[in-house]
Amino acid sequence: MTEQDISTSSFQAFLFADPAAHSLSPRMHRAAFAHAGLPGTYEAIRVPPAGLAMAVQGLRYPHLLGANISLPHKESVVALMDDLTPAARAIGAVNTVIQQGGRLIGDNTDAPGLLADLTTAGYVGEGRSAVVLGAGGAARAAVYALQVGLNHDVFVLNRTRERAEELAAAWPDATGSAVAVRPEEVPWPQVGLLINATSAGLDAPDDTPLDAAYLSLLPSHALVYDMVYRPAETRVMREARAAGLRAENGLGMLAQQARLAFFGWTGRDVPVSVFLNALDAGIPVEAR
Ligand code: NAP
Repeated sequence: MTEQDISTSSFQAFLFADPAAHSLSPRMHRAAFAHAGLPGTYEAIRVPPAGLAMAVQGLRYPHLLGANISLPHKESVVALMDDLTPAARAIGAVNTVIQQGGRLIGDNTDAPGLLADLTTAGYVGEGRSAVVLGAGGAARAAVYALQVGLNHDVFVLNRTRERAEELAAAWPDATGSAVAVRPEEVPWPQVGLLINATSAGLDAPDDTPLDAAYLSLLPSHALVYDMVYRPAETRVMREARAAGLRAENGLGMLAQQARLAFFGWTGRDVPVSVFLNALDAGIPVEAR
């Protein structure tokens, strides 16, 4: 798409998810279109699994930029793509579809979005050892980002041990390593980063994926990063702070993955602050 095309026509992008109504993506991308001075629109559409192929096929029309893909479609949409970026291929999940001349390219901006937000949070790879809690889609993006992107040694902890083992074996040729462990097997004093990529606490706020006693074994420079962003301070974050550690939620990752998707569609690198300011999660940006 040329610069002239994009500035003289109206373009559309979508979210395909089920459910979709709760999504914060429309407000972020609409703000990005406005900031970039582009006549674009963004709609969140509830697409049940049976409707995914037809919805994706519709993205081939001219003037459609593409779509974000969220639960439960991130993995099933892979087979509907004409091509995949290296990250999407390696992770086996697509969160962004980019239309280029009628072809659909599947990208994954969760992993680079996480890395971008870790950098913002001041993480510089302390110790090169990290713990990832969880083994679902978000954990997969996190382990890929850390093991392959940052050359880290990653300890994967998950409620269902078999899923952690499967995830830890996903990238055997990476220079960093990954191993499934129980909490008591982690060398906690060597770990510089702990990422919660579970959905524990989402429905029951008092649920936690990790006994707080383990947090106090982390070194004082360690960063605890919770991919969850509602509430703004999760139980894991609260307990990490009580142990004297830095803790961040996943709001910045959400904004960064959106920024990267918008860049893929339009070629415009809109500042992440535009996406953050558009989020209405009850977290003042200046308080982050
Ligand atoms: P998912 O595929 O459904 O995986 C959920 C994971 O959480 C599984 O590993 C599951 O363990 C674990 N889990 C669920 N309840 C638990 C509990 N009570 N105790 C311990 N572990 C529990 O979900 P996902 O797509 O990976 O998403 C996970 C979280 O990340 C969600 O809260 C999502 O909102 C967040 N996320 C944030 C961003 C962002 O941009 N900030 C991006 C993606 C996802 P089992 O394997 O044992 O079931």
